Amino acid sequence: MSRNLTTTTAIYAFDKNTEPAMKVKSGETVTIETYDCFTNQITSEHTKMTELNWDQINPATGPIYIEEAEPGDILKVKIDELKIGERGVMLTGKNQGVLGDYFDEFDVKIFPIEEDYAVFDENLKIPLNRMIGVIGVAPEDEPVNCGTPGPHGGNMDTKLITEGATLYFPVSAPGALFATGDFHAAMGDGEISVSGIEVPGEVTVTFEVIKQHTISHPLLENEDGIAFLVSAETLDEAAKTAVREMVDFLHPHTDLSLSHLTMLMSAAGQTQISQIVDPLVTARFFVPRYVLDAYGIQLFQQK
Ligand code: CA
Ligand code: ZN
Repeated sequence: MSRNLTTTTAIYAFDKNTEPAMKVKSGETVTIETYDCFTNQITSEHTKMTELNWDQINPATGPIYIEEAEPGDILKVKIDELKIGERGVMLTGKNQGVLGDYFDEFDVKIFPIEEDYAVFDENLKIPLNRMIGVIGVAPEDEPVNCGTPGPHGGNMDTKLITEGATLYFPVSAPGALFATGDFHAAMGDGEISVSGIEVPGEVTVTFEVIKQHTISHPLLENEDGIAFLVSAETLDEAAKTAVREMVDFLHPHTDLSLSHLTMLMSAAGQTQISQIVDPLVTARFFVPRYVLDAYGIQLFQQK
């Protein structure tokens, strides 16, 4: 039976000193309710940005303490089901996103959500790509606000974080202290306006603690393959670190020389942009599953 966590436990930073909202064991499943990234404060297209409480932006529900998790372990989080609300919100404006210098004010747009689409206007319905913006664990050092991504995860705004995907996080604090929020009905790579189609929602996840293995950045696995998600000051740095993480991760799993593996990554791997608008930007390096299959590579087998 799965357990439930509601938005009464919203946090605004990933912090190893936050009191857990719930304790679970490795193998347990939890259903987590989330606000949208504005803590549901935007109720119409007339909501004034000056009315918003800006201390309540990017809430995440949690943190969840996973009993077996210790620093140096990996927390595996399988996204079993992702449900979203019936209404989405987007925002852009002055100093926001890639085009922040085009605007003097803020603009807000409300999107009715239908079964498979977000309604943009009378001409266009946008296919849904339900995904999670903020997901992660407590960082090793200082608290990190939920608007900023990093090695702990956080605001990675990566469109591959969907139902059916599995994430692997480096554990830095006892219990890992997992939290999530900031769901999107749809978002394109880059998230150029500074928002996706922001929605409240409910996610069901299953936790598993993996011992005897360590990673330095979040790893995503889905049907199609795997990707390291790396956040940094610049896209250059993020993208190159993601490549290095992947090569360093795969090399011990194959008999290939480093130069041949590098050629393989150049031929079959994909350098992709997740988002370019948050305080750190996020890039990913994706390797298709057929490469893993060809060399019989299984992720994090327990020794
Ligand atoms: Ca976000
Ligand atoms: Zn968002």
